[in-house]
Parts: sequence; C-alpha cells; structure tokens
Amino acid sequence: MEVKLEEFSKECSCGRSHRLLVKRVLIESGAIGQVNGFLEASGLDQYPVVICDTHTYEAVGRLVVEQLKSEHKDVIILDAEGLHADEHGVAKILENLKETPSVLLAAGAGTIHDLTRYVAKEKQIPFIAIPTAASVDGFVSTVAAMTIKGFKVTYPAVSPLAVFADTDVFMKAPYRLTASGVADLLGKYTAILDWQIAHLLTDEYICEKVVKIELDAVKKAAEELEALKEGRKEAYENLMYALILSGLAMQMIGNSRPASGAEHHLSHLWEMHVINTPTKALHGEKVGVALALVCDTYKKVLAIEPRSISEISYKGMPCQELKDHFSSLYESIIEENTPDPLILINYEKLLENLDAVKALITKLPSGEEIRSMLKSAGAKSALEEIGLEDSVIEKSLRLSPFVRQRLTLMRVLPLLYKD
Ligand SMILES: [Zn+2]
Ligand SMILES: [Zn+2]
Repeated sequence: MEVKLEEFSKECSCGRSHRLLVKRVLIESGAIGQVNGFLEASGLDQYPVVICDTHTYEAVGRLVVEQLKSEHKDVIILDAEGLHADEHGVAKILENLKETPSVLLAAGAGTIHDLTRYVAKEKQIPFIAIPTAASVDGFVSTVAAMTIKGFKVTYPAVSPLAVFADTDVFMKAPYRLTASGVADLLGKYTAILDWQIAHLLTDEYICEKVVKIELDAVKKAAEELEALKEGRKEAYENLMYALILSGLAMQMIGNSRPASGAEHHLSHLWEMHVINTPTKALHGEKVGVALALVCDTYKKVLAIEPRSISEISYKGMPCQELKDHFSSLYESIIEENTPDPLILINYEKLLENLDAVKALITKLPSGEEIRSMLKSAGAKSALEEIGLEDSVIEKSLRLSPFVRQRLTLMRVLPLLYKD
C-alpha cells in the first residue's frame, strides 16, 4: 500500500497548514525492491550507506545492500548486543563513516532509526527508513529519542525522506517486537488525553484532525490484536500503517505531543535508572505497562469532589525529592522544568473545567481493560514482566512528570488533591 500523503498536508481547520517532510511511504511485500529506483530518481545514489545491526543485517541489511546498484556503497553493521540510542552508538557510526554519504539507509527497528536520524541531522544528509519490525511509532518522527550521559532526551532530528516497510521483512521479526508496537500505539490513549486536558486548562494549541488520526491509529491496533497473534499479513500491514500514522501526526505538529504523554514519561524515567535497576524491556513494553498504571491513576480523578480555589495551594516543585532521586541529573531536570508548566494553570479555569476533564477520563479505558488488551496482543502487562517491582509505582507516578516540561494530567494531580 502506498500511503496517500497529500491527505495529511492540506490546510487544516486548526488554522495551521501542516507540512509533511516524508515524501513517500510504501508498506507492502517486496517494498525494499523499490529502494534503488527511489534513490536513482532522487539523485541520491552516488554513495548510499546502509546502517544496521548484527541481527537486522541478516534480516534485511544484506538484501538492501545487494539491491543497491551503485558501485560506491557501504554498510555499517553495529553489534546488536548492548546497542542503545546513545552517544556510544552515534560514535560507532561516525567512526565508520569514511566520507560523507549521499544518503543513509536505516535498516532496523527503533534504535537503528534513532541513531541514523541523529547522524543524518548532524551530517545534514537525507535518510531512508527501512523498518524491520512493527515495533515503534517513531519511524517517521522528526525527533530522535536518545539517552545522552544518562539523561533521556528528545532531540530535534530529521524525518526520513521515504519509508520502505517490507511486509515480508517486518512480519518475520520476533513477535515480541510486534507486541511492543501494539503497546506503543495503545499509549496514545493517554497521550491524547493529556493533550486535550492541557488544551482545556492552558489553551495549549491542539489540532482535532491530528487527535482523530491518533485515535484512529489506536482503534486500528486494538482491532487487530487477535489477527496479529494468528500471524495474518493484513493485520501486520494495518499495524505498520497505524504506527506510521502516529508518526505522521507528530510530523504534522512538529513535536511528539500527539504521541507521548504521562505513559511515555514513566517509560523515560525507568530508562534513566534513578529509582530502578536497568530493565531490558523494549520501548513499547515499558509504555504498555506504564499506560495501565496511568489509566488506574487517572480513573481515580473521577472521585475527586470539586474544591474551592482557596484550598489549592501549590508549593512549587518538590526540589528536595527531585535532588534525592535524580542526584547528578538534578540540574538537567530543573533546567528542563524551567519555567514550571504548572504556573500556566489558572485555578479558576481548572475548577471550571473539572467536569470536562472527568468527561474525557470517563471515555478512557480502565487500567484493567488496558492490561487485558495487552494480554490479548501477547504484550507485557505487569511491572514484574519488565523487570520492575511494584514498589516503584508510587515514586514513578510522582517523579515521572518531571522528565519533561510537557503538561500532563499527572503533573496537575497535586493541585487536585488535598494534602
Ligand atoms: Zn490541524
Ligand atoms: Zn513511543
């Protein structure tokens, strides 16, 4: 299927005209056979360099290199063991780049894409996405999710020029990766809710068209849970399409707001290892487990009684607690949170909108419903399955909103509860 990109870059009722940077998205069997033709037609075939890891080289990297007709081409195969989207991964790619390529081709899953995207931005060269698994929604994102010196950050990077998602390749990925992609998509339930609530409380810009795209993407994923487990080709293509849609939504807005809220903040916090030992769980696995916890927490807001303004006394950020836990990362946390997004909240507006907030939460699936969806998809649903203990829950909920300046309902909760 050739994704019709024109539909996403029209004038929009939100008042902006959204611009897509990706020029072509192809999701079908044999899609990698089209890569060489695309490079030639775009005048990028002088010196293409494929970036993959030891696993994805076998799965697709070798095939991609063989198909490239250019005589001057290279492949960089990174050791999959211990490979992360961090400064070490970037250094390994840069060490291996002898001269400036005409184009980079990322043949892998999320980590290879984040690393390639980062290097493409640094070197100002275009890149092509060749996803080897339907594991994350970040393939067409314009930001690279990196861990630099222990701090989980989102860097402005570049969109791929094109995506060639070959069903024959990504269907063969270990099922765990596919289940992780489903979980990453389900995360949009709270990502969108957080965005809608920030819009209600602070008039933050929102685009209803993008909200709809994300909700359609989640719906698509939720409908395919059984079919994916049965290994149906169409279900895999629909999942990849939904993941790409979520990425396009981020491109339309220019940041990850439509796709990342409190559930991603918990996942980022766990990746910083400040309250837990390192976990080997995949991105989507952490997001899925976090999502269920966020839904449990948000549903409790339904029981909150309206309060009077005089009862809200915001005491600022819990600096001592942040210092105790983030220690060497504390300065970065403070920098990230300056200004504190809670100062944007007008208490009167908060109380006036409490019913509207509750109405949105009512539509949200419960934590149990999410866990059951995750289970049907064969994804991880409990903390212990991702190597974390239940004892981290309370701290995770309290500290995670501070990993980003982005306003979420999780961040607002201290204003709603009496001390
Ligand atoms: Zn719009
Ligand atoms: Zn994600």
